[in-house]
Amino acid sequence: MPLLTLHGHEQIRRRLDDAISRGALPGSLLLQGPMGVGKQRLALWLGQRLVCDGAEPRPCGSCQHCRYALAGAHPDIHWYFPRPRLKDTDPSTEDVEDDFREAVGERTKTGVYPPPPPEDAILIATIRAMAHSASLLPALAARSVYVLGDADKLVVREDAEFAAGAFLKLLEEPPPRATIVLTSSEPGALIPTIRSRVVALRVPPLSPAAVDAVLAEPAMREALSAVDVPPRAEEQRRLAHGAPGALLAQGEWLGALARARSLLDAATASDRREQMRASLGQGGAKARGAFTTALDALTMLLHERSRAAVERGNHRGARIAARALDLVEDAKELATGNVNPQLITSELLRRLEAALR
Ligand SMILES: [Zn+2]
Repeated sequence: MPLLTLHGHEQIRRRLDDAISRGALPGSLLLQGPMGVGKQRLALWLGQRLVCDGAEPRPCGSCQHCRYALAGAHPDIHWYFPRPRLKDTDPSTEDVEDDFREAVGERTKTGVYPPPPPEDAILIATIRAMAHSASLLPALAARSVYVLGDADKLVVREDAEFAAGAFLKLLEEPPPRATIVLTSSEPGALIPTIRSRVVALRVPPLSPAAVDAVLAEPAMREALSAVDVPPRAEEQRRLAHGAPGALLAQGEWLGALARARSLLDAATASDRREQMRASLGQGGAKARGAFTTALDALTMLLHERSRAAVERGNHRGARIAARALDLVEDAKELATGNVNPQLITSELLRRLEAALR
């Protein structure tokens, strides 16, 4: 029952390791970066690093703490993420912990798992269970670590103010022996009161070599054989854009890439009718999740253009791509608010057309 071997992310691992050695690791962290880049796996590595008591350099990989951590079964490394609602509308802490024991068991069967479906959420009962657990002393290690994956999926309603308040307090002042690590591919969608209480670290896309290493993991190969991606490793590497986990989003990510390409084509072709069609294709307010993913895909495509332009020494092309990236960022900002995706898209296409000309 293992976690997937962690490949890449050397630089951010060194930074975290250095902060730990200096006793300067913040109590609450946010790892932000593209979907499927391995943020939760990295957070779990940090957990292992913090509980390891073996020989330096840590994590040693062989002490009892490391072995439990790598199996996804260390009692002081707690892993929460979006889940379907439990049948009971007000589940007890025990019910929540049982649900997560099962869910983590599912994820650590092979260590490979797809992003959660859009309807899954981090429920206030989960936050309550996490805050309760963090108030207790660690069971086995000197520290406990709380990983909250896809933290932007936190649902807070007014009647849950009390639990939200407890969570904010936990983030602001974690117990001395606890470290809280949130991860998000949409940090813009995080509640501002949460964002202001965590130290954010950017997790960049993996290098091509690290992507290849992830894609070569047997569990990854098996999972990919079940989804609709091209079988050749180099094709997969190209589609992954440095975030191999995104390939597991079954049709979703590939669909988003296809939508992003059609948006880019519509903007480049200066074809108003095509632009109208592309805007309407983004759906209404209910399609917000898919729309955000399409904007992420657009960012990746534009980064690719920018990189290609730089490699060819095409400075004008690189400047244009950078300008287009800014426009997409503006659109993402709007998308976190209450604006209709179709409106955002038609405005974005108009501005992209002008920028790409
Ligand atoms: Zn160890």
